[in-house]
Amino acid sequence: MPDKPERENRRMGARKSKKKVCVFCADKVENIDYKDASKLRRFISERAKILPRRVTGTCASHQRSLTQAIKRARHLALLPFSND
Ligand SMILES: [Zn+2]
Repeated sequence: MPDKPERENRRMGARKSKKKVCVFCADKVENIDYKDASKLRRFISERAKILPRRVTGTCASHQRSLTQAIKRARHLALLPFSND
């Protein structure tokens, strides 16, 4: 009877599993302050693009308000629209 060679079938989970918790949930932030440009800056790329959730670990609901906050901040010229 052939034993199934199940040596290295389960290689997953070996990535650096830094548990990503939404920073706003962690801080219990309900309304993201669009005037806090230095904080918002952490969620945009060097080219002033809004970073996706998978990069920042922000939860869906906070990502929504974050996007709104960033757009608002852009209109107030607190954040750049693009950095090209
Ligand atoms: Zn959150």
